[in-house]
Amino acid sequence: MMQSSHKRGAGLWTKFRTDTSISESLKKRRGALRNALETVATVLAVAILVLARVSPENAINPDGIVIHHSAFSAEDIAQFPGPIDASVIDALHERRGFGVICDGRTYHIAYHYVILPDGTVQSGRPEHCVGAHTLGRNNALGICLVGNFSTRANPDGRLGSERPTKAQIRSLVSLVTALKGKYLIPCDQIQRHQDLNPRTLCPGDRLPWTEIQTQIGCGTAGK
Ligand SMILES: [Zn+2]
Repeated sequence: MMQSSHKRGAGLWTKFRTDTSISESLKKRRGALRNALETVATVLAVAILVLARVSPENAINPDGIVIHHSAFSAEDIAQFPGPIDASVIDALHERRGFGVICDGRTYHIAYHYVILPDGTVQSGRPEHCVGAHTLGRNNALGICLVGNFSTRANPDGRLGSERPTKAQIRSLVSLVTALKGKYLIPCDQIQRHQDLNPRTLCPGDRLPWTEIQTQIGCGTAGK
């Protein structure tokens, strides 16, 4: 009886040991699988970062300049009642889904530069990242002057500055001249948004375009 009981006990022990080794083996396999998955996830994450950094669809060699005004609608102004600057435009464009991954981070602001009424030039997305400012022309650098310079859309200044300040024009001329030289951009590729899309009033008729063209060396004589 004792022996028999002992044998039965040994049998149970063997079974327990076998079960234990099966579960240990399963644990090991699961561990190996988890390690493999973690490795794959790490490799994918690195690949995504590398691709984002060098992705040809997000990187550009700028070949033009397009000038815009910020032209916030009454609704936009209600949402962002303070002074408009690059960070406000970034927040607005985030809501509009203009973001692009470039250099491993997301830039929402559609423009490469913003010029404030006091002439301050703020950076938007980097120059080598594709813009989101002009349909079909986002290999060009987008420069946005804060204000709404359209007589039709903003006759009484209720939608922001009616005309660009002298400081804004000065900064625009300096910035465009510098970018034109840096990327060897020809005069016929320095345009207003409305020159590329007849349905927009951007950047408005109160932007003294002829005067600006002359100042950047792209007047009729400079072409
Ligand atoms: Zn525009």
